[in-house]
Amino acid sequence: MRYAFLSCLNPAQSQCVEHPPALPLQILAGPGSGKTRVLTSRIAYLVLHHGIDPSSICAVTFTNKAANEMRTRLVKLLGKDKTNQIKLGTFHAICVLFLRKYGYLIGVEKNFTICDADVSKRMVGKLLKAHEDFMASKDLTLKEGAVLTMISKAKAKGETPEGVRPKTAKSTVSNIQTFKQTAFADVQQVFADVYRDYQTFLRQSNSLDFDDLLIFGVELFSKHPRHTKWCHHILVDEFQDTNTIQYELMCCIASMNKCITVVGDPDQSIYGWRSAEVKNLARMQNDFTNVKQVFLEHNYRSAGSILAASVSIISQDNSRIPKTLRTSHPLGPRPMLRSFPTENDEASFLAYEINRMIALTGGMLGYGDFAILLRFNALSRMIETALQRERIPNRILGGHKFFERTEIKDLLAYLQLVDNPEFVPAFSRCVNIPSRGIGEKALGEIIACAQKLKSSPLSIVEQICDHKIPDLKLSVRRKVAPFVVTIRTLRKLAAEGRPPSELIRTLLKFIQYEEHLKKTQPDWELRWENVQELINFASEDVGDCGVGSLVISPDTKPSSDTPLRQFLQASMLSSDGDKSNGHDDGKVVITTCHAAKGLEWPVVIIPAVEKGNFPFYRSEDIEEERRLLYVACTRAQAMLYLTHALKRKSAGEQKTKDLSVFLSGIRHENPSLFSDEPPSLSAQDQKLMAEILGRESRLPDEDDAKCRTASFMPARQYNPQPKVEGELGQFDPPPSPELPYREDIPTGY
Ligand code: ATP
Ligand code: MG
Repeated sequence: MRYAFLSCLNPAQSQCVEHPPALPLQILAGPGSGKTRVLTSRIAYLVLHHGIDPSSICAVTFTNKAANEMRTRLVKLLGKDKTNQIKLGTFHAICVLFLRKYGYLIGVEKNFTICDADVSKRMVGKLLKAHEDFMASKDLTLKEGAVLTMISKAKAKGETPEGVRPKTAKSTVSNIQTFKQTAFADVQQVFADVYRDYQTFLRQSNSLDFDDLLIFGVELFSKHPRHTKWCHHILVDEFQDTNTIQYELMCCIASMNKCITVVGDPDQSIYGWRSAEVKNLARMQNDFTNVKQVFLEHNYRSAGSILAASVSIISQDNSRIPKTLRTSHPLGPRPMLRSFPTENDEASFLAYEINRMIALTGGMLGYGDFAILLRFNALSRMIETALQRERIPNRILGGHKFFERTEIKDLLAYLQLVDNPEFVPAFSRCVNIPSRGIGEKALGEIIACAQKLKSSPLSIVEQICDHKIPDLKLSVRRKVAPFVVTIRTLRKLAAEGRPPSELIRTLLKFIQYEEHLKKTQPDWELRWENVQELINFASEDVGDCGVGSLVISPDTKPSSDTPLRQFLQASMLSSDGDKSNGHDDGKVVITTCHAAKGLEWPVVIIPAVEKGNFPFYRSEDIEEERRLLYVACTRAQAMLYLTHALKRKSAGEQKTKDLSVFLSGIRHENPSLFSDEPPSLSAQDQKLMAEILGRESRLPDEDDAKCRTASFMPARQYNPQPKVEGELGQFDPPPSPELPYREDIPTGY
């Protein structure tokens, strides 16, 4: 039987979808070639054609947002019931699902809390303090961020605290080398101690950090392989960015049936800094037999000229294996590469240009069609200001992440404590919110008392309130009484299975949080808005941490997780952009190049393509930076802008900036790939854009002349500065004359 969704695929894509389920499949293809579409179609085909039980399919995505997008696509193909049975989510989410249920087999308690990076960092900072004197005496410095990265890398390699401790050995090398070795050994010594104490903290707080989720997941599945029996087929998207432990997890899950499909693109591997191993592609060839490799060569996303420019960027990496990538889309307007005198001019231009495009395309493009992709978040300030000045609605994805905002963390801390009374960081955070006069000293006493009595701080204050143990000398009882009442009320509601939104509303009333914000925060209204957004999020059906339904296999009982626990999981596991789909909400999206992976927008703008920013000066891998720029460029469907400011403020100083090395050579050698003028938006331009986007052009032919002379006036006229010397021009409205339509731009590589 032919399924309708197969007719939306090309022959190579169909071949992947129809590949026998029992034979491992590796699809390697460039951006926009339909890898994610193929993965989704293959799932549908496995269920509909091969009759595979949807609950025995595990689909792994890189973010929860990607999982949600895949879920939406699957609902269209399979319907809601079948889709909900599929275990669809990130590796972390899948581990959480199984650890909650079977973690007890390896000593993980059911109500563990997921410890977020912020809490981990604070804890490591606190633990480092104990070594301050030692470090100072050795003239060494060690920051908490660096130690946390070391811990994470050690965990990824499976090294224990004792495993990283330096071995004392007599040295026979020179003095300088001995000195270096000693310094290294001292650092390792501190690192090993902090790592050990950090693990103790996690254990005592009944919490797991993100690395632990994967490590314990592997432990569970390898020690108790019967819990992988449910999995008939595992499919992994963005495989090039899996790290060693994720790879091992994938192998564990696939161990029973060896039915596995992965899709990836080595040219888009951008998480080496987080220990991703592109080598896993080759490793898979060894670890599984008869792995079929398929290459897709047709790009469906981008205009020809965007693809050509992107390919010219990635092709400068001589170590990569050349691939072919074609597009059937027309060339479309050439990507713009332009330098501006200052970052202010750059930002003003971007805002002006967005409004110009929207006005001149007669509504074919809306604000939601634009994405501004930054190398790092801090670059957004000037751009945000310019957008606000032009009244351009925008949203920042993954900037100050929603779940990392103070007000959100305050409220989540209460809920975490209700779910896991052992979680000390949550206690420390919320016991004095709103202010109850419990300062650092009193908090220290409570925690010390808890340690002495081998109990949790929450239990201590409850016992003090209940007169079961004497009050501490700072009359803690009076101060914590309202706190204990609040926790107990919430605990009762949670035990009754009441929805998390109700718990939050109750909490807000009990602690008078709005009043607290008014008293303490000048921007309390914005923060209160965020609180409302949290209630909205809590009202949504978050499913089981974004992983399929509550039923994990036909032979197991439904998960007994409370709605509160499910909600906490969903919020702790949410990643960049998860709180919004980033599209169609009528707002320009500002996000990072990393967070844009896998997504697409009609118009993509990449500002600050400058030395020091792109490649980022602290990055150790220049090729990874180049791939990141390639990923960012290939998100664009119809139009791409790359901009550079000759002067930019950095750390309070105005600095001169050169164009990124990724672009300076190309601009010199192949100037025809980029234009330094924005597209004219002639009728022809607009028709091509409409064709690429599969939309209707709003501009009949006869309006061409009108279009080019349209008197377009943004909210605030862009104010051109005097032209900069040499090739670097200043943007001059009105729109430039039409560019030649180039047929000669190569698209293969
Ligand atoms: P990336 O590497 O960026 O993740 P990808 O290879 O996963 O890209 P998809 O996101 O699956 O690519 O597809 C890119 C775009 O092309 C999507 O809009 C998708 O709907 C469309 N597309 C994929 N295959 C086809 C096809 N055969 N016909 C028409 N459109 C297609
Ligand atoms: Mg994809």
